[in-house]
Order: sequence, then structure tokens, then C-alpha cells
Amino acid sequence: MAKIQMTTPLVEMDGDEMTRIIWQYIKDELLNPFIDLKTEYYDLGLKYRDETRDKVTIEAAEAANRLGVAVKCATITPNDARVKEYDLHEMYRSPNGTIRGIMDGTIFRAPILVKGIKPHVWNWEKPITLARHSYGDVYRNTEIKVPGAGKAELVFTGEDGQEIRKTIFDFKAPGVIQGMHNLDGSIEGFARSCMNYALSVKQDLWFASKDTISKIYDGDFRDIFQRVYDEEFKDKFEAAGIEYFYTLIDDAVARVMRSKGGFVWACKNYDGDVMSDMMASACGSLAMMTSILVSPDGKYEYEAAHGTVQRHYYKHLKGEETSTNSVATIFAWSGALRKRGELDGIQELVDFADKLDKATLDTIEAGEMTGDLAAITTLTNVKKLSTLDFIKAIRKRLEA
Ligand code: NAP
Ligand code: MG
Repeated sequence: MAKIQMTTPLVEMDGDEMTRIIWQYIKDELLNPFIDLKTEYYDLGLKYRDETRDKVTIEAAEAANRLGVAVKCATITPNDARVKEYDLHEMYRSPNGTIRGIMDGTIFRAPILVKGIKPHVWNWEKPITLARHSYGDVYRNTEIKVPGAGKAELVFTGEDGQEIRKTIFDFKAPGVIQGMHNLDGSIEGFARSCMNYALSVKQDLWFASKDTISKIYDGDFRDIFQRVYDEEFKDKFEAAGIEYFYTLIDDAVARVMRSKGGFVWACKNYDGDVMSDMMASACGSLAMMTSILVSPDGKYEYEAAHGTVQRHYYKHLKGEETSTNSVATIFAWSGALRKRGELDGIQELVDFADKLDKATLDTIEAGEMTGDLAAITTLTNVKKLSTLDFIKAIRKRLEA
């Protein structure tokens, strides 16, 4: 059988520990036999990041901006222990943070649903993708512990000398105050990323805030989303048959719980922090969760939501058998290949990505899975496979 040809290379960002092992297995067993894989390779493994003093991470992110689609393996974010373990020159920043900064993107997380692994909310038939704004609000706040009676004011002093002053509260007794901010540019970029993503998956977009209470602050978010939608996306959404929908955050939570899923939920920074953890735990496992970084101008980076699975890697190094779940990493590859296929008009590549996803889910639904899923599945007659045997089982289905 002739291998599928690609035109534009994917940006391939290799990583660390157990996920680096899985990365190679996936290429050997599931990709190279079927595709004439074209990638621009960047080694974000900690050793090479250190050799290049982290330059390679910046180059990889710039390549993602240039080529438009990247796939990334999980990587170590150094801490004190890692600095010793790898004898690092510095405690480098999180690669994901560096890449997000350069691509100026928003992260979208969605569970991979499969029969036999039930979400705790039984009516969720399709995944709900959560998009969290990653700038400002309470994460960049300024706080004061008020010691006693006094007046708290909010003051803005413009560069031109203009002053805006409002009373927050006339304190008669001790208390607390907090100041926070956001930027119209950042909110606009967030809105664009969400709308581009919703278009790319052809799903409705929900956005919610507390604009009934926070009339100016949350009102700004609501108005910017609406303006970006009206000016840049309305026609495209209508052509794709999808809808942009704004509501109050309390109403959104109630609707999400009753919904069948299958939409993108954009959240302000704090709401997204809380709701993404709720969503991940409601759906069973971090190893069944994809993560996609989308820039405001529609560049994509696909990865797994979990880390490098360090504990399994140390077992692997000792020669012990591991049963590490590769599904999220496989879906990162298939997501990137599908997007590349769509952008370059290579239908065979899109079809291959669909087949790879299906073969992966079919394997699990047939009762062949890794230990993390075997422990929580409702299926009976389950075979717990090793890391490599699970990938080989998928290959068998893919070949058939
Ligand atoms: P982790 O790699 O996500 O693993 C935590 C635990 O979750 C594992 O020990 C394992 O539980 C379970 N798990 C996660 N992924 C799994 C999979 N694919 N299959 C089976 N079980 C899985 O988090 P960590 O061990 O706290 O972090 C390790 C390294 O990853 C750190 O250096 C951190 O900096 C990095 N990290 C990177 C990213 C990223 O690149 N996006 C994200 C998070 C963390 P059991 O041990 O109970 O089996
Ligand atoms: Mg959190």
C-alpha cells in the first residue's frame, strides 16, 4: 500500500520521560507505516533544552507560528529536584508557558469519550471543550488588608493627567480590598481564538460571565465578544451552521449540567480554572483529555493534557513492565495531522486521522486497554495491556 504523502511539515516537539517513549512507539507503530511523515523536528527534551539554554523552545514556537500546526509531547517543567537530576544550568520556564507566550494562544481542553468509561454526568454524550482565558483578573491582583476605619478608593490617573476616582467603601472597621485588571487586547485575542476554534470543530460557542453584577468589568468581556463576533465571525458561523451564545455564568453551569455536550465553553480565567478541573474529574482521567493551543490568528498546537508520567518512566528504566495510557498523545497526533490535511487539502490525511481515532477507541471498547482505564471501566472481560502492546493492538485494527 502506498504511503500517504504530506506537503507541509508538521512542527514536531519531542518531550520527556514516559511520554517520550510513547512518542517513539506511536511514530514507529501507528504513523510511519502508513504516512510519509513530514515534520520539522524540535527536541524539547530537558537535556537538549539545557544544551541550547532553552533556545530550542523559542525556535519551536516560532516554527509553529510559521507553519501553522504543531504537535507537542509532554515536557518536564524544571523545579529544584529537576535542576539537580539533570544538572541544569538554569531553572527554565515551563515550555508550555513559553510557547503560549509566543503563540499568544488560548488552551482548549476536551475529554475523549469512549464506551465503558462513563462521565459522572450521564447525559454528556459528546465532549464539552473548555477554553480558559489565561490573562489577568484575580491572577494579577493587588490586595490590601484594611487595618481599620478609613476610605478605600479606586483611582485611575491617565498619562494625560485625567483622573477617574470612585469610592470603594467607607470602612468603619477592619476588612479587605482587592484591585484587578484586564486588557481589551487580551480579551479580543481570547474571543478570536475561541471563535476560530469553534469554527474549526463546527460546534456552538458558549461564553458566560457575571455581567448583571459586574456591569463594567464583565460587561467589557461581554461587549468585546459580541463585537468580535459581529464584525469578524457572524457570517462564518452562519455558514457553518453554528451559533455564538452568551449567558450568565450561573445559567451556563445549570445548562451545562443538563446538556448533551458537544459545544465549546469559553470561561474567564477564574471560572476556567475551577470548571476545567471539574470537567476533567467528571470525565474520569487526565490520560483521556486533549489539549489544544489556538492562537488568535488560527495557528494550532496539539498535545496531551497530562504530564510526562514520571513514576511510570522510572519503572520503565528499571526494566519493569508499564501500562501507560497513550490515548491523549495519539489524539494529539491525529488532531495535528487532520488539521494539516484540512489546511493542505489532503483528504487522505484527514481520513487517516479519523481512522486512527476510531481504531484507538475501538480497541478500548473491545476491552483492550491500559491499567488506568481497566481500573475504572464498566466493561467486563477486560484485558490490561502494557504500554507497547496497547499501541500494537491499535495498529492491528488500523491495518485491518
Ligand atoms: P503526570 O505526568 O500527569 O502524572 C501524574 C499521575 O497521573 C501519574 O503518576 C499516573 O498515575 C497518572 N497518569 C498521568 N498520565 C497518565 C497516562 N498517560 N497513563 C496512565 N496514567 C497516567 O504528572 P506528574 O507526574 O505530576 O508530572 C510529571 C512531569 O510532567 C513533571 O515534571 C511536570 O513538570 C510535567 N508536566 C508536563 C505537562 C505538559 O507538558 N503539558 C503537564 C503537566 C505536568 P499513577 O502513577 O497512579 O499510575
Ligand atoms: Mg485549577
